[in-house]
Amino acid sequence: MINQAKKSLCVFSILLLILGCYENKKQATLSTNWCDKELRPSLKKLTEIKTKRDWFKVYAAGENVYAIVEPYNYQEVISYLILGKQKALLFDTGMGMDSISQVVKELTSLPITVLNSHTHYDHIGGNYEFTNILGMDTAFTRDNAANGIPHDKVKQEVSPDAFCQKHLPKMDTANYKIKPFVISTFIHDGYKIDIGERTLKVISTAGHTPDAVALLDEKSGYLWCGDTFYEGPIFLFSKGTDLASYENSITKLSLLIPKLKYVFPAHNNPVCDPKELTDAKNAFEEIKSKKKSGKDNNDGNELFTFDKFSFLIGKGFLNQK
Ligand SMILES: [Zn+2]
Repeated sequence: MINQAKKSLCVFSILLLILGCYENKKQATLSTNWCDKELRPSLKKLTEIKTKRDWFKVYAAGENVYAIVEPYNYQEVISYLILGKQKALLFDTGMGMDSISQVVKELTSLPITVLNSHTHYDHIGGNYEFTNILGMDTAFTRDNAANGIPHDKVKQEVSPDAFCQKHLPKMDTANYKIKPFVISTFIHDGYKIDIGERTLKVISTAGHTPDAVALLDEKSGYLWCGDTFYEGPIFLFSKGTDLASYENSITKLSLLIPKLKYVFPAHNNPVCDPKELTDAKNAFEEIKSKKKSGKDNNDGNELFTFDKFSFLIGKGFLNQK
């Protein structure tokens, strides 16, 4: 998810309230105080690993996989630490509001390689803390790495109704921005990351952004899918979005289902049933074939609501089809 969508998200959440969906989202929306928001029930079912950082909540999510959740900001972004025998892969680095590298140090002493599910600001905030960073070889990635994201474009993340400052006593909200970072190795679709008795295959899933990737651990049956799928409003309206590419990508991921045990998305609920990828693919096809109509979200986007997720799509992109 990204910043322009905050208003849309609020409107959408209100709509959800009316519809009576998403029981836990309800609490998030009714309260403008993220300190009062209850944790999602899906998190409460997982085993928590206590750390010294109050901003992050860490959960065991699969074998030698930690979900590093930031539940006190409305993005509810999730980064994942995946352990091998020799190295660990950190898939995304979150909002950059608190030090994710300090949490990672508490969880493992293995050397860390960072890869981002894509380079929207909510997934690259802690990149600057690391030296070994893989990046997709796209102009979009290079631009975000070289420039970071200025305060003006992320200031809504630190507005009082967007997060709970109590968990970030040292936060300098006036200067919050996403710092630039250096990519050590540029990679492509199909790149394999060997972290020691565990191999992670990078799958290009362009659509949400040009540099979106999923990560497949075929041996474990785990797929990390970034923002290509999660339970919540899936955003397809920003600069770099491409609906035809998204369709290819969600189809590609759904074809992996026979190999999968769990899917780990980058927002909201960390552990999902792989079958939901087919639901998302079918839902997107309904939209494309105009069998499903959307509602005007009054922000340049149309909202298409399904059971556990929805699509918020830019009208400009819809009209291109
Ligand atoms: Zn996101």
